[in-house]
Amino acid sequence: MKRNKTIYVTEPFLPPLEEFNEYLKQIWNSKWLTNNGQFHQELEQALCDYLGVKYISLFANGTLALITALQALRITGEVITTPYSFVATTHALWWNNIKPVFVDIDPETCNIDPEKIEAAITPKTTAILPVHVYGYPCNIEKIKQIADIYGLKVIYDAAHAFGVKQKDISVLNAGDLSILSFHATKIYNTFEGGAIVSQDESTKKRIDYLKNFGFANETTVVAPGINAKMNEVQAAMGLLQLKYIDTIIEKRKQRASLYKELLKSIPGIRFMEDLPDTFHNYSYFPIFVNEKEYGMHRDELYEKLKANNIYARRYFYPLISQFPTYKNLESAQSGKLKVAEQITREVLCLPIYPDLPINVIENVCKIIAL
Ligand SMILES: *Cc1c(COP(=O)(O)O)cnc(C)c1O
Repeated sequence: MKRNKTIYVTEPFLPPLEEFNEYLKQIWNSKWLTNNGQFHQELEQALCDYLGVKYISLFANGTLALITALQALRITGEVITTPYSFVATTHALWWNNIKPVFVDIDPETCNIDPEKIEAAITPKTTAILPVHVYGYPCNIEKIKQIADIYGLKVIYDAAHAFGVKQKDISVLNAGDLSILSFHATKIYNTFEGGAIVSQDESTKKRIDYLKNFGFANETTVVAPGINAKMNEVQAAMGLLQLKYIDTIIEKRKQRASLYKELLKSIPGIRFMEDLPDTFHNYSYFPIFVNEKEYGMHRDELYEKLKANNIYARRYFYPLISQFPTYKNLESAQSGKLKVAEQITREVLCLPIYPDLPINVIENVCKIIAL
C-alpha cells in the first residue's frame, strides 16, 4: 500500500538558500559573529518598524528572554499565570525562584480569565504573566486595570503573537514587557531565537546588559547577567524571514479559512473564530472535540489521523499544572482549573503552515468528518 508523506503540525518556512548565502558571505567577510553585530542591529530596527513597537532586544531563544525579563523587572515572590501554555512559561518563573500561581482560563480565547485573577492575589504577588495563546490577544485592558490597582507588573508571554494587532496597534505594546519566540516551529523563525519588547530606553538598556553577562562597557559589570545573545547567523535569518512574513501570514490565513469552511458543519467539532478589529497571524489551528456530540474522544481522533500519517498535536496537553514540578502547588489542585482541564481534554491542533498543500487540508477534514 502506498503511504502518503508524513504531515506534521508545522513545517518551518525557509527562504531561498541563495539569498541566505549572500548574508553568510558578509558574515564571513566581516568575521563579526555575535555581540551586537551589523545584522543584529539591523534586525532590531527592522522588527521595531514591522511590529510597530518602540524597543526590542534580541535573544538566543524565547525561554532566556522570559527568564531575563523577570530579572529585569526584579520580579520575586508569587506570579499569577496560566496553566494552559507551553511549559517554558512557568519554567521561567521556577528558574527565578518565583512561585507560580495558576488561574483558570476563558473557554473562548483559552487565555487567563481576568475575572479570576483578583482572587489569586496575595501579599507576595508581584506580577501577572499571561500568555496570548495561539496568538489570540488576552483581555489586555482588564488585566491592566487589575495590575494598576494592586501595583503589579505585567509580562506577556507573546511567543505566539508575532504580528498580531488590535485596532491597528500591536498587542506587544501591552504590559511592561512582552516576550517573543523565534523558534523553528513558530510563524517567524531565526532557527532558535527570541526577543523582549520594552516600553522605555532605560529598561531596554538594562535588558541588553543582562543578556550579555551584565557588561555596560569593557570594564563595567552592572548586574549578574547571563549569556542570552542572538548571533549574526540568527539575525541574518531574521532579516530574510521579514521579507516573506506578509506572504507567510496570508497563506496561513487562506488555509485557516479552508479548514473553517470544511469543518463548520461537523457536529461536536468547534474552532476559534477571528475576533473583531483584530489582525490574526494564524499561528495554530486548534479544534475542540466534544466527545458526546462528535462520538469519539479527542485521543481517538488524534490516533486516527496518525494512522493516516497526519501528526496533529495536543497543544496544550497535559496542563503545565499537571507536570510533576507543579502538580503539588495549591493552585494546581484538581477542580480549581475546571475550564483548562476541559479544554486540555478536547484540544487538537491541526497542521497549518504556508506550504501545506490544499489537498492535505481536504483529506484531514474528510478523515475528521467520517
Ligand atoms: C515556544 C514558546 C516558548 C519558548 O520559546 P523558545 O524560543 O522555544 O525558548 C515560550 N512560551 C510559549 C507560549 C511558547 O510557545
